[in-house]
Amino acid sequence: MSHETFETLAAGYAVGALDGEDLVQFEAHLAEGCARCETDLREWRETLARTAVAEPRAIPPPGVKDALLRRIEQTSPRVTDRGRWLRWAVGTAAVALAAAGFTGMYVAARYEAVLGRMARETAAVKQRVERSEAVLREQLALYRDGVALLRDPATRVVEMRGVGTAAGAAGRVLWNDKIGGQVFVASLPAAPPGKAYELWTISGRTPRAAGMLALDAAGQAAQPIAATPDGRVDVFAVTLEPEGGVPAPTGPIVLASK
Ligand SMILES: [Zn+2]
Repeated sequence: MSHETFETLAAGYAVGALDGEDLVQFEAHLAEGCARCETDLREWRETLARTAVAEPRAIPPPGVKDALLRRIEQTSPRVTDRGRWLRWAVGTAAVALAAAGFTGMYVAARYEAVLGRMARETAAVKQRVERSEAVLREQLALYRDGVALLRDPATRVVEMRGVGTAAGAAGRVLWNDKIGGQVFVASLPAAPPGKAYELWTISGRTPRAAGMLALDAAGQAAQPIAATPDGRVDVFAVTLEPEGGVPAPTGPIVLASK
């Protein structure tokens, strides 16, 4: 075998396109320590690496190497022709395979991005479930406390009526001077931007803040009211206030008991 043949095989060896007798012969030749083939091999691999960076292209179809080698067998009966074909074919294969490597990395990066997005979405779903669970727990506690309130003979039911712009609204307070109570509100119009509804317990002439109403989309609210220090409430009222709430009422009354 002339050395020109080995030069040709070096290109194929660099892209892993050699097999059978060619592979055995070329590896045996390398084992003998041919500096020229070592150099060739290094140059082919460097070309390959450069191409991988410079030429991102489509993934070659599977079996590209087999098809390539079959084509070489069919079209090149003579050694010199075969050598030309191999150089051409291996050069093409090198670009294709290097591009495949690059594309593979690209696909892997994309895949990781998708995995990252899925992980974030999963975390978001988990958060939503935890929030819903917290809301359900609050409601359950409210109902349990409501039952306890209703069992107590000292508990009274106080009606609130809508006033002014909230004339269609209605409220009801389950109240027990010793343990506090619960307020239920219906048909309250949504508060304007920057505003919110605040509940007050009024003893004599002194209003005491009893929390911001957490209205749902239907204008309903159901929430606990803490017991007052003096154990006495004469009037329950709701006013329209700045969003964060205020220590003493400043806005118009929208709901009030008699
Ligand atoms: Zn050699």
